[in-house]
Amino acid sequence: MITSLAFAHKKYALLGLARSGMATLDALVASGAHCMAWDNREEAREAAAGKAEIADPLTADLTGYDGIVVSPGVPINTHPIAQKAETSGVPLIGDIELFAQARAALPWHRVVGVTGTNGKSTTVALIYHILKEAGVPSLMGGNIGLPIMSQEPLADGGVYVLELSSYQIDITRTLDCEVAVLLNVTPDHLDRYDGFEDYAAAKARLFDMQSSGHNAIFGNGDDVTQGIAADVAAREQNPKVTRINADTLKGQDEWSSLQGPHNAENAAIAIATAEALGIGEEKWRPALGSFTGLPHRMERMAEHEGILFINDSKATNPASTAPALAAYTNIHWIVGGLPKGERLDECEPYFGNVKHAYTIGEAGPAYAKLLAQKGVAVDASEMLCTAVIQALENASSGDVIMLSPACASFDQFRDFEARGEHFRQIVNALINPDEDGEMPGPINGSANGEAA
Ligand code: ADP
Repeated sequence: MITSLAFAHKKYALLGLARSGMATLDALVASGAHCMAWDNREEAREAAAGKAEIADPLTADLTGYDGIVVSPGVPINTHPIAQKAETSGVPLIGDIELFAQARAALPWHRVVGVTGTNGKSTTVALIYHILKEAGVPSLMGGNIGLPIMSQEPLADGGVYVLELSSYQIDITRTLDCEVAVLLNVTPDHLDRYDGFEDYAAAKARLFDMQSSGHNAIFGNGDDVTQGIAADVAAREQNPKVTRINADTLKGQDEWSSLQGPHNAENAAIAIATAEALGIGEEKWRPALGSFTGLPHRMERMAEHEGILFINDSKATNPASTAPALAAYTNIHWIVGGLPKGERLDECEPYFGNVKHAYTIGEAGPAYAKLLAQKGVAVDASEMLCTAVIQALENASSGDVIMLSPACASFDQFRDFEARGEHFRQIVNALINPDEDGEMPGPINGSANGEAA
């Protein structure tokens, strides 16, 4: 784990003890800090007992505390802890900020921070893969699901590749990335912000923390990202700004796990990052070809009687579903879940690629109506299982059955991974009926944080 003398004899109050909260608690305790910790779940409090004083920072006296460490799942725009931090004069921070404070004591290293509405995990995994193939010590951390404080520090010359949601940037103050990346900004997670501008401003803060001379790399797919790039470039003390141009990319057809226009952007960003870190084309080009992608992101899950099954469960908003619809034709599209809005505007230009749609979840009835109005053949399937059965009945060789819901999953599933696994199990049961025969039942669970 990452420990630091910077935390010795300091006092921290932790709120939220899921995976990253618990990893942070362990790292702070091992560094010699005194911790108070709280989570609404009793099991989490029990797991922290013995390591921390169990008390709720919301009601406890925080005099003398050096930080309130909140998990990114705590909505600080509405949660009273923000007010408590202000009245107590204690900074509200997250695990990424603690990592930033621990950096001075780590062996010489560089940090790549990747944010954006869509494509963060893919790009982080791709950058990490290029670094590994180039022989650079490296690790992934942050929003990708690997708490940074539980990782072993890298050897001299290492590169930490961090996926940063806007929630994490909100509670980070001093992370000076050698390479900071903004992929794109489209409306999402607006429940956590005072509107779209506020959400975009959260992403832009990543560059406010950068020293001049460091690298700032921007996608070129939307005006908001371009606006932030222009603002950063116009600063007196600015990082070196690179705007990628995915149109000039050569060789994408040879990178089987990086298909579609969105992956051209992700690849161009990863290449610009590799070059900023001094890795030449002779190293990054073969690495793009050997990248195998991540599950649940336009994953080629199975092929059966000429029908291709694509699992894009991670597409939790219309902007991330649009490139999946753009990448194929003859699509049987399974769409719906907990909607982020009433419309599917970003997807509409690709409705011509959809042979038939099947709506599921809370958004199902409204999306079925909307799609029918736009002339798309549609069944209101409600359940994922029904949708797959109907799609298989309608599909023929050369067609694609794709789960790309454009919605969050929490109405019917624990998270997007549970939704994608459920899809995988249903497809397996239908195309390999002899293997275990059983159709999986519905998966329900409590809400969990989804990437921002
Ligand atoms: P994040 O970590 O930001 O949520 P992922 O890499 O997990 O992003 O991809 C999430 C979804 O967004 C997937 O459905 C994927 O197909 C889509 N996607 C990936 N990259 C991009 C991009 N650059 N622009 C738009 N959508 C994208």
